[in-house]
Amino acid sequence: MIRVTVWNEYFHEREYDGIRAVYPDGIHGCIANFLGKEENFTVKCATLDMDNQGISEELLRETDVLIWWGHAKHDEVSDENVKLIHEHVLSGMGLIALHSAHFSKIMKSLMGTSMTLHWRHDDTEKLWCTSPLHPIAAGVPLCIDIPKEEMYGEYFDIPKPDDVIFTGWFGGGEVFRSGCTFTRGYGRIFYFQPGHEEYPVYYMEDIQKIIVNAVNWCFNPVRYPAPPQCFAD
Ligand code: ZN
Repeated sequence: MIRVTVWNEYFHEREYDGIRAVYPDGIHGCIANFLGKEENFTVKCATLDMDNQGISEELLRETDVLIWWGHAKHDEVSDENVKLIHEHVLSGMGLIALHSAHFSKIMKSLMGTSMTLHWRHDDTEKLWCTSPLHPIAAGVPLCIDIPKEEMYGEYFDIPKPDDVIFTGWFGGGEVFRSGCTFTRGYGRIFYFQPGHEEYPVYYMEDIQKIIVNAVNWCFNPVRYPAPPQCFAD
């Protein structure tokens, strides 16, 4: 079994009626629901308002793949939790960072770049598969039409990805490296851009398929000791 934890800051869905209407059980609830249908996954959820922000050594030890959705509350995530997650990724825990999680402390910490990009509300996206043989693209159409999505555009200040599996093309003409893989230590990382909180993107079957594939790809059955001195003073 692949043990998945879906972490969500769970702020917008409680604060704004329109967003709650899209995700009444939270974005994490929607994601956990479709992941839970996979026979080889067990799924837990964690949110920022829980004890210690939903993160603990015990939870991470029992998590094979951590999915992270954050936006407005990145700065509230404690440095201690970021350090803990970082160490677990280096020792082999998979990490999937969704949408605005590009700018989370954990992604900035793992990537080492500013993670900045261009953005604009209210656009359309064609999500093109640019690495069709990659396992994350298995069974996924060459192009997915997302009727409403926030525009994320280049230049996206990330380190050179291992693979760019999806490239977004937006109504305004911008392009974006929307699905990228990285490895850090023994951990596999997938960044995936679609999933702005105002739009029902995580209900789309093709988007769900990509996230399911990404969980399978990020899974590393062996947890190694983290490389030493990662956080040496
Ligand atoms: Zn957004």
